[in-house]
Amino acid sequence: MLTIALSKGRIFDETLPLLAAANIIPAEDPESSRKLILATNHPDVRLVIVRATDVPTYVQHGAADLGIAGRDVLIEHGGAGLYQPLDLNIACCKMMVAAPNGFDYAAAVQHGARLSVATKYPNIAREHFAAKGVHVDVIKLYGSMELAPLVGLADAIVDLVSTGGTLKANNLTPVEHILDISSQLIVNQAALKLKHAAIRPVIDAFAATVKR
Ligand code: ATP
Ligand code: MG
Repeated sequence: MLTIALSKGRIFDETLPLLAAANIIPAEDPESSRKLILATNHPDVRLVIVRATDVPTYVQHGAADLGIAGRDVLIEHGGAGLYQPLDLNIACCKMMVAAPNGFDYAAAVQHGARLSVATKYPNIAREHFAAKGVHVDVIKLYGSMELAPLVGLADAIVDLVSTGGTLKANNLTPVEHILDISSQLIVNQAALKLKHAAIRPVIDAFAATVKR
């Protein structure tokens, strides 16, 4: 049995063509089904639907053999026990620092001000500001980071940006680029050895289909 961990939404949608290239067709749509284990056209291949941030955990512990996770999620997780053979170039966006329109972020940094930064990504944020020598208090949130500067919880946020529409709608501006983000194929290291004959063709089919 081969188990592949995916999250609903953009990653599932953008993974479907890659799965099709490996001749793996889900039997159901996770948006309409309430099942968390989805069968496929192969009796020995199944998909498990988990939160995006939980994908590395399932693969690390071998509950799933393969998974697809954003680089943001993988950096926060740490990547222990995971083989990362392929950048899938899907769910692309940027990790940015954003601040309210009118807040002079550059000047605050220049003057050595201590900044409070709200984010779902405390490790990425701490590392970014430490490398720049900027002192920050990181405030961990689980979503809707854009709200934090508007109500005085934080001076700035570290968040994913694609079009910038959500920032704009909340009177925020991107002020610093941290990382380019895309989703990676992750493989359990033990499974790669023990189930090599089943896993290798999936990696190869994905690799041949990735858009560059
Ligand atoms: P939820 O939205 O259920 O709280 P989540 O934000 O972790 O969970 P998604 O929004 O599906 O889940 O994001 C999954 C992955 O897709 C992220 O880890 C990131 O790599 C990527 N991603 C997130 N937001 C965007 C975006 N606006 N554009 C492109 N890719 C994105
Ligand atoms: Mg989201």
